[in-house]
Amino acid sequence: MKASAFSYARAASVANALDLLATHGESAKVLSGGQSLMPAMNLRLITPELIIDIGELAELRGIERTGDVLRIGALTRHVDLMRSSEIATHAPLLTEAIAHVGHPAIRNRGTIGGSLAHADPAAELPACMLALGATIIVRGQDGERRIAAEDFFTGIYETALTPEELLVAVEVPVTRKDSGYFFHEFARRHGDYAIVGVAAQARLQEDVFSDLRIAFFAVGDRPALARAAAKLVGVPVTPAVLSAASAALGDELEPQEDQEASASMRRHLAKVLLARCVSALLGRPDLSGGQA
Ligand SMILES: Cc1cc2nc3c(=O)[nH]c(=O)nc-3n(C[C@H](O)[C@H](O)[C@H](O)COP(=O)(O)OP(=O)(O)OC[C@H]3O[C@@H](n4cnc5c(N)ncnc54)[C@H](O)[C@@H]3O)c2cc1C
Repeated sequence: MKASAFSYARAASVANALDLLATHGESAKVLSGGQSLMPAMNLRLITPELIIDIGELAELRGIERTGDVLRIGALTRHVDLMRSSEIATHAPLLTEAIAHVGHPAIRNRGTIGGSLAHADPAAELPACMLALGATIIVRGQDGERRIAAEDFFTGIYETALTPEELLVAVEVPVTRKDSGYFFHEFARRHGDYAIVGVAAQARLQEDVFSDLRIAFFAVGDRPALARAAAKLVGVPVTPAVLSAASAALGDELEPQEDQEASASMRRHLAKVLLARCVSALLGRPDLSGGQA
Protein backbone atom coordinates (compact mmCIF):
# COMPACT_ATOMS: atom_id res chain seq x y z
CA MET A 1 0.00 0.00 0.00
CA LYS A 2 1.18 3.56 -0.60
CA ALA A 3 0.62 6.70 1.42
CA SER A 4 -2.31 8.90 0.45
CA ALA A 5 -1.44 12.16 -1.35
CA PHE A 6 0.30 14.77 0.80
CA SER A 7 2.15 18.05 0.41
CA TYR A 8 5.78 18.39 1.42
CA ALA A 9 7.66 21.32 2.95
CA ARG A 10 11.32 21.36 3.93
CA ALA A 11 11.71 23.59 6.97
CA ALA A 12 14.48 26.16 6.57
CA SER A 13 14.74 26.85 10.31
CA VAL A 14 13.09 25.91 13.60
CA ALA A 15 11.07 29.16 13.40
CA ASN A 16 9.90 28.20 9.89
CA ALA A 17 8.88 24.71 11.12
CA LEU A 18 6.93 26.27 14.01
CA ASP A 19 5.18 28.69 11.61
CA LEU A 20 4.11 25.77 9.43
CA LEU A 21 2.91 23.81 12.45
CA ALA A 22 0.96 26.82 13.74
CA THR A 23 -0.72 27.23 10.35
CA HIS A 24 -1.52 23.58 9.65
CA GLY A 25 -1.91 22.13 13.18
CA GLU A 26 -3.22 18.57 13.27
CA SER A 27 -3.26 18.18 9.49
CA ALA A 28 0.56 18.36 9.43
CA LYS A 29 3.18 15.87 10.60
CA VAL A 30 6.86 16.46 11.35
CA LEU A 31 9.33 14.24 9.49
CA SER A 32 12.65 13.47 11.20
CA GLY A 33 14.20 10.10 10.25
CA GLY A 34 10.92 8.74 8.86
CA GLN A 35 11.43 5.26 10.38
CA SER A 36 8.05 5.27 12.10
CA LEU A 37 6.22 7.99 10.18
CA MET A 38 6.69 6.54 6.68
CA PRO A 39 5.55 2.99 7.56
CA ALA A 40 2.50 4.44 9.34
CA MET A 41 1.67 6.58 6.29
CA ASN A 42 2.23 3.71 3.86
CA LEU A 43 -0.17 1.58 5.90
CA ARG A 44 -2.58 4.57 5.94
CA LEU A 45 -2.72 4.46 9.72
CA ILE A 46 -2.23 8.21 9.45
CA THR A 47 -2.98 10.45 6.47
CA PRO A 48 -1.41 13.88 7.05
CA GLU A 49 -2.02 16.55 4.43
CA LEU A 50 1.40 18.13 4.94
CA ILE A 51 4.79 16.70 5.85
CA ILE A 52 7.19 19.17 7.44
CA ASP A 53 10.70 17.83 6.92
CA ILE A 54 13.03 19.08 9.68
CA GLY A 55 15.85 16.70 8.74
CA GLU A 56 18.21 19.44 7.54
CA LEU A 57 18.04 21.57 10.69
CA ALA A 58 21.61 21.18 11.98
CA GLU A 59 20.79 23.23 15.09
CA LEU A 60 18.68 20.29 16.32
CA ARG A 61 21.49 17.77 16.00
CA GLY A 62 24.35 16.97 18.37
CA ILE A 63 25.38 16.12 21.92
CA GLU A 64 26.74 18.75 24.26
CA ARG A 65 27.83 18.56 27.89
CA THR A 66 27.30 21.61 30.07
CA GLY A 67 28.23 21.05 33.72
CA ASP A 68 26.21 18.13 35.04
CA VAL A 69 23.87 17.93 32.06
CA LEU A 70 24.08 16.32 28.64
CA ARG A 71 21.90 18.03 26.06
CA ILE A 72 20.99 15.86 23.10
CA GLY A 73 19.44 17.52 20.06
CA ALA A 74 16.20 15.99 18.82
CA LEU A 75 17.67 15.13 15.41
CA THR A 76 20.60 13.19 16.85
CA ARG A 77 20.45 9.80 15.20
CA HIS A 78 20.52 6.50 17.06
CA VAL A 79 23.83 5.59 15.40
CA ASP A 80 25.41 8.83 16.63
CA LEU A 81 24.24 8.15 20.19
CA MET A 82 25.58 4.61 19.98
CA ARG A 83 29.02 5.79 18.84
CA SER A 84 29.29 8.85 21.09
CA SER A 85 32.06 8.74 23.70
CA GLU A 86 30.23 11.48 25.67
CA ILE A 87 27.19 9.22 25.92
CA ALA A 88 29.28 6.13 26.70
CA THR A 89 31.01 7.99 29.53
CA HIS A 90 28.17 10.04 30.95
CA ALA A 91 25.01 8.08 30.10
CA PRO A 92 26.16 4.51 29.39
CA LEU A 93 22.61 3.20 29.85
CA LEU A 94 21.77 4.85 26.51
CA THR A 95 24.72 3.28 24.70
CA GLU A 96 23.58 -0.14 25.77
CA ALA A 97 19.88 0.45 25.08
CA ILE A 98 20.35 1.90 21.58
CA ALA A 99 21.90 -1.35 20.35
CA HIS A 100 18.45 -2.90 20.85
CA VAL A 101 16.57 -0.32 18.74
CA GLY A 102 15.71 -2.06 15.48
CA HIS A 103 18.54 -2.79 13.07
CA PRO A 104 21.44 -0.77 11.62
CA ALA A 105 19.30 0.61 8.78
CA ILE A 106 16.76 1.93 11.31
CA ARG A 107 19.47 3.32 13.60
CA ASN A 108 21.20 5.09 10.70
CA ARG A 109 18.09 7.22 10.03
CA GLY A 110 16.02 7.17 13.21
CA THR A 111 16.41 10.01 15.73
CA ILE A 112 15.97 10.34 19.48
CA GLY A 113 13.37 13.09 19.00
CA GLY A 114 11.37 10.92 16.60
CA SER A 115 11.50 7.97 18.94
CA LEU A 116 10.30 10.00 21.93
CA ALA A 117 7.61 11.88 19.98
CA HIS A 118 6.37 8.58 18.53
CA ALA A 119 5.99 7.19 22.10
CA ASP A 120 5.67 3.52 21.28
CA PRO A 121 5.12 1.83 24.67
CA ALA A 122 7.49 -0.99 23.60
CA ALA A 123 10.31 1.37 22.61
CA GLU A 124 13.59 1.44 24.51
CA LEU A 125 14.40 5.16 24.62
CA PRO A 126 11.28 6.47 26.37
CA ALA A 127 11.95 4.06 29.28
CA CYS A 128 15.59 5.16 29.37
CA MET A 129 14.44 8.77 29.69
CA LEU A 130 12.39 7.82 32.76
CA ALA A 131 15.26 5.86 34.31
CA LEU A 132 17.71 8.70 33.72
CA GLY A 133 15.35 11.39 35.02
CA ALA A 134 15.55 13.25 31.70
CA THR A 135 13.88 16.52 30.82
CA ILE A 136 12.24 16.81 27.40
CA ILE A 137 12.34 20.23 25.81
CA VAL A 138 9.62 21.26 23.38
CA ARG A 139 9.21 24.54 21.55
CA GLY A 140 6.12 26.29 20.21
CA GLN A 141 5.24 29.78 19.06
CA ASP A 142 5.06 30.91 22.70
CA GLY A 143 8.51 29.61 23.65
CA GLU A 144 9.90 26.51 25.29
CA ARG A 145 8.42 24.07 27.77
CA ARG A 146 10.57 21.73 29.85
CA ILE A 147 8.72 18.53 30.63
CA ALA A 148 9.90 15.80 33.02
CA ALA A 149 10.06 12.47 31.19
CA GLU A 150 7.55 11.05 33.73
CA ASP A 151 4.97 13.57 32.54
CA PHE A 152 5.77 13.41 28.81
CA PHE A 153 4.37 10.00 27.86
CA THR A 154 0.61 10.05 28.26
CA GLY A 155 -0.63 6.92 26.42
CA ILE A 156 -0.10 4.66 23.40
CA TYR A 157 1.63 6.91 20.83
CA GLU A 158 0.53 9.88 22.93
CA THR A 159 2.66 12.57 24.54
CA ALA A 160 2.37 15.98 26.16
CA LEU A 161 3.38 17.59 22.81
CA THR A 162 0.67 19.69 21.21
CA PRO A 163 0.26 19.56 17.39
CA GLU A 164 1.88 23.02 17.20
CA GLU A 165 5.03 22.05 19.09
CA LEU A 166 8.38 20.61 18.10
CA LEU A 167 10.50 18.40 20.34
CA VAL A 168 13.88 20.16 20.17
CA ALA A 169 16.14 18.41 22.70
CA VAL A 170 16.43 16.25 25.78
CA GLU A 171 18.57 16.91 28.82
CA VAL A 172 20.00 14.00 30.76
CA PRO A 173 21.85 14.34 34.07
CA VAL A 174 25.47 13.21 33.84
CA THR A 175 25.84 9.93 35.74
CA ARG A 176 27.72 10.17 39.03
CA LYS A 177 30.67 8.08 40.08
CA ASP A 178 28.62 6.18 42.65
CA SER A 179 26.04 5.09 40.10
CA GLY A 180 25.25 1.95 38.14
CA TYR A 181 22.84 1.03 35.37
CA PHE A 182 21.07 -2.01 33.98
CA PHE A 183 19.29 -2.69 30.71
CA HIS A 184 17.70 -5.86 29.45
CA GLU A 185 14.80 -6.82 27.23
CA PHE A 186 13.06 -10.03 26.30
CA ALA A 187 12.39 -10.09 22.55
CA ARG A 188 11.85 -12.95 20.12
CA ARG A 189 14.90 -11.89 18.07
CA HIS A 190 17.52 -9.20 18.65
CA GLY A 191 16.19 -6.01 17.04
CA ASP A 192 12.51 -6.89 17.48
CA TYR A 193 10.39 -4.76 19.74
CA ALA A 194 10.56 -5.99 23.32
CA ILE A 195 7.97 -8.29 24.85
CA VAL A 196 9.05 -6.80 28.19
CA GLY A 197 12.08 -4.66 28.92
CA VAL A 198 13.70 -2.72 31.74
CA ALA A 199 16.06 0.25 31.97
CA ALA A 200 17.44 1.22 35.36
CA GLN A 201 19.76 3.79 36.87
CA ALA A 202 20.88 3.55 40.48
CA ARG A 203 23.08 5.21 43.08
CA LEU A 204 24.74 3.11 45.71
CA GLN A 205 26.31 3.84 49.07
CA GLU A 206 28.26 0.78 50.11
CA ASP A 207 25.78 -2.02 49.33
CA VAL A 208 22.63 0.02 49.78
CA PHE A 209 20.68 1.87 47.09
CA SER A 210 20.48 5.59 47.82
CA ASP A 211 18.45 6.08 44.62
CA LEU A 212 16.91 3.57 42.24
CA ARG A 213 14.92 4.40 39.12
CA ILE A 214 13.62 1.31 37.32
CA ALA A 215 11.57 1.89 34.17
CA PHE A 216 9.71 -0.94 32.44
CA PHE A 217 8.56 -0.90 28.82
CA ALA A 218 6.09 -3.00 26.84
CA VAL A 219 4.07 -3.55 30.01
CA GLY A 220 1.26 -1.06 29.47
CA ASP A 221 0.20 1.94 27.43
CA ARG A 222 3.38 3.90 28.28
CA PRO A 223 6.74 3.31 29.96
CA ALA A 224 6.35 2.86 33.71
CA LEU A 225 8.69 4.05 36.45
CA ALA A 226 8.29 1.35 39.10
CA ARG A 227 7.05 2.77 42.40
CA ALA A 228 8.01 -0.59 43.93
CA ALA A 229 11.68 0.39 43.61
CA ALA A 230 11.22 2.60 46.68
CA LYS A 231 11.04 -0.56 48.80
CA LEU A 232 14.66 -1.31 47.86
CA VAL A 233 16.13 2.10 48.72
CA GLY A 234 17.90 2.82 52.00
CA VAL A 235 17.71 -0.75 53.30
CA PRO A 236 19.87 -3.85 52.99
CA VAL A 237 18.27 -5.86 50.19
CA THR A 238 17.45 -9.32 51.53
CA PRO A 239 15.47 -11.94 49.58
CA ALA A 240 12.43 -10.97 51.67
CA VAL A 241 12.82 -7.27 50.79
CA LEU A 242 13.15 -8.15 47.10
CA SER A 243 10.16 -10.42 47.30
CA ALA A 244 8.05 -7.60 48.79
CA ALA A 245 9.21 -5.25 46.01
CA SER A 246 8.40 -7.89 43.41
CA ALA A 247 4.88 -8.35 44.78
CA ALA A 248 4.36 -4.58 44.79
CA LEU A 249 5.58 -4.41 41.17
CA GLY A 250 3.09 -7.11 40.18
CA ASP A 251 0.30 -5.08 41.77
CA GLU A 252 1.21 -1.78 40.13
CA LEU A 253 1.81 -2.96 36.54
CA GLU A 254 -1.13 -3.20 34.15
CA PRO A 255 0.30 -5.12 31.20
CA GLN A 256 -1.61 -5.52 27.96
CA GLU A 257 -2.39 -8.85 26.30
CA ASP A 258 -1.54 -9.30 22.61
CA GLN A 259 -0.26 -11.95 20.18
CA GLU A 260 3.21 -11.76 21.78
CA ALA A 261 2.28 -12.48 25.38
CA SER A 262 -0.53 -12.65 27.92
CA ALA A 263 -0.77 -10.06 30.68
CA SER A 264 0.27 -12.61 33.29
CA MET A 265 3.33 -13.64 31.28
CA ARG A 266 4.38 -10.00 31.00
CA ARG A 267 3.88 -9.50 34.73
CA HIS A 268 6.00 -12.59 35.41
CA LEU A 269 8.77 -11.44 33.03
CA ALA A 270 8.81 -8.00 34.64
CA LYS A 271 9.39 -9.62 38.04
CA VAL A 272 12.19 -11.74 36.58
CA LEU A 273 13.77 -8.60 35.16
CA LEU A 274 13.43 -6.82 38.51
CA ALA A 275 15.34 -9.62 40.25
CA ARG A 276 18.05 -9.68 37.59
CA CYS A 277 18.36 -5.92 37.66
CA VAL A 278 18.75 -5.72 41.45
CA SER A 279 21.11 -8.70 41.48
CA ALA A 280 23.33 -7.17 38.79
CA LEU A 281 23.37 -3.68 40.32
CA LEU A 282 24.31 -5.00 43.75
CA GLY A 283 26.65 -7.71 42.43
CA ARG A 284 24.55 -10.28 44.32
CA PRO A 285 23.97 -13.44 42.24
CA ASP A 286 21.96 -14.88 45.16
CA LEU A 287 19.15 -12.39 44.36
CA SER A 288 18.80 -13.17 40.65
CA GLY A 289 15.96 -15.67 41.19
CA GLY A 290 17.26 -17.98 38.48
CA GLN A 291 14.01 -17.88 36.50
CA ALA A 292 13.24 -17.52 32.75
C1 LIG B 1 11.63 -2.52 11.02
C2 LIG B 1 11.57 -1.54 12.16
C3 LIG B 1 12.00 -1.95 13.42
C4 LIG B 1 11.97 -1.04 14.49
N1 LIG B 1 12.37 -1.46 15.73
C5 LIG B 1 12.35 -0.60 16.76
C6 LIG B 1 12.77 -0.99 18.08
O1 LIG B 1 13.19 -2.12 18.31
N2 LIG B 1 12.71 -0.06 19.06
C7 LIG B 1 12.25 1.21 18.85
O2 LIG B 1 12.20 2.00 19.77
N3 LIG B 1 11.86 1.61 17.63
C8 LIG B 1 11.90 0.74 16.59
N4 LIG B 1 11.47 1.16 15.36
C9 LIG B 1 10.93 2.52 15.22
C10 LIG B 1 12.00 3.54 15.01
O3 LIG B 1 13.27 3.15 15.34
C11 LIG B 1 11.77 4.79 15.84
O4 LIG B 1 10.46 4.99 16.18
C12 LIG B 1 12.30 5.89 15.02
O5 LIG B 1 13.69 5.87 15.15
C13 LIG B 1 11.72 7.23 15.28
O6 LIG B 1 12.59 8.23 14.85
P1 LIG B 1 12.43 8.94 13.46
O7 LIG B 1 13.41 10.04 13.47
O8 LIG B 1 12.54 7.94 12.36
O9 LIG B 1 10.94 9.51 13.55
P2 LIG B 1 9.88 9.77 12.41
O10 LIG B 1 9.45 8.47 11.83
O11 LIG B 1 10.35 10.81 11.47
O12 LIG B 1 8.72 10.38 13.30
C14 LIG B 1 8.01 9.59 14.25
C15 LIG B 1 6.85 10.40 14.83
O13 LIG B 1 7.35 11.43 15.66
C16 LIG B 1 7.00 12.73 15.13
N5 LIG B 1 8.21 13.54 15.26
C17 LIG B 1 9.44 13.21 14.79
N6 LIG B 1 10.34 14.13 15.19
C18 LIG B 1 9.66 15.06 15.90
C19 LIG B 1 10.05 16.24 16.58
N7 LIG B 1 11.32 16.65 16.63
N8 LIG B 1 9.08 16.97 17.21
C20 LIG B 1 7.81 16.56 17.19
N9 LIG B 1 7.38 15.44 16.58
C21 LIG B 1 8.29 14.69 15.95
C22 LIG B 1 6.57 12.48 13.71
O14 LIG B 1 5.64 13.46 13.25
C23 LIG B 1 5.97 11.09 13.80
O15 LIG B 1 4.66 11.17 14.30
C24 LIG B 1 11.51 0.29 14.27
C25 LIG B 1 11.09 0.70 13.00
C26 LIG B 1 11.13 -0.20 11.95
C27 LIG B 1 10.68 0.26 10.59
